[in-house]
Amino acid sequence: MLKGNKMNSHTKKRLDSSIRFDPRTMKVFLDSGILQLTTHLGRKKYKIKVPDYFQKYFAWEVKSLNLGINKKHCLVKVVVEEKIPEQSRCSEVLGIDLGMRNFAALSDGQLIPSTEINRVKRKYAHLRKELQSKGTRSAKKKLQALAGRERRFMSGWNHSLTKYLASLPYGAFAVEDLKGIRKGRKGKVFNRKRSNWAYAQFQSYLQYKAEEQGKFVLLIDPRFTSQQCKNCLHIAKENRKGKTFHCQECKYISDADTNASKNISRRGAKIFFEQAVVNQPYISAYENKVVGV
Ligand SMILES: [Zn+2]
Repeated sequence: MLKGNKMNSHTKKRLDSSIRFDPRTMKVFLDSGILQLTTHLGRKKYKIKVPDYFQKYFAWEVKSLNLGINKKHCLVKVVVEEKIPEQSRCSEVLGIDLGMRNFAALSDGQLIPSTEINRVKRKYAHLRKELQSKGTRSAKKKLQALAGRERRFMSGWNHSLTKYLASLPYGAFAVEDLKGIRKGRKGKVFNRKRSNWAYAQFQSYLQYKAEEQGKFVLLIDPRFTSQQCKNCLHIAKENRKGKTFHCQECKYISDADTNASKNISRRGAKIFFEQAVVNQPYISAYENKVVGV
């Protein structure tokens, strides 16, 4: 960089421009906070402050480093890299149905109720109503703080749920594609799902947590997942009555959300096996035809 400045061959760097180092010119030990840099005065050793939450990157490979100045502080940006583990050998697909009564229903039969979410939502709605009726400036400030707290609660919930799901012994997770639907009937329930930001957040958290473990997230065609029988694939509006699913054709009875999650799992598995060679972690495809339509 110094040479470049002298030769005037590149854009001139200012005195406070950041400097990039690669493994030939630096060495960093994140766990002990030791940094070695090659400078124009030779190799120098420094002590850096490494935040606790960097711990999970201690074992990763350091690729490059950026040294910069920000008002009073010297900042070191460390780029670390880790190979995504080989595609998980498990080929089973877990179907996940997001809904109102159960935040998530899993195709293994587990139900994750939204009782706690609803309780917190009700609490905040109540507080909001009280503050809104006051209308003072401090009430407005409190309202903003309230919104932030509610958001953080939901985000924490999504983090812990997706962490748990990603750790389950499945090779892929299938969820309804809430964005990609182009044609066909969408329905009221589906529209409600699509506009719920908590579901979108759930999917994006699940995607990166699954990816970290070499697993996949499959986006499936959401049409008729709750009206189709997971047993005989018959589709009828009458199959579903409230929270129970009762197939008019084969008489199969099940929890409605569990039945939907099993359809999601089956559609996901179809994509998973058809695309044997997959090199992108987010896979989206639609069944060519929906049986019975
Ligand atoms: Zn049936």
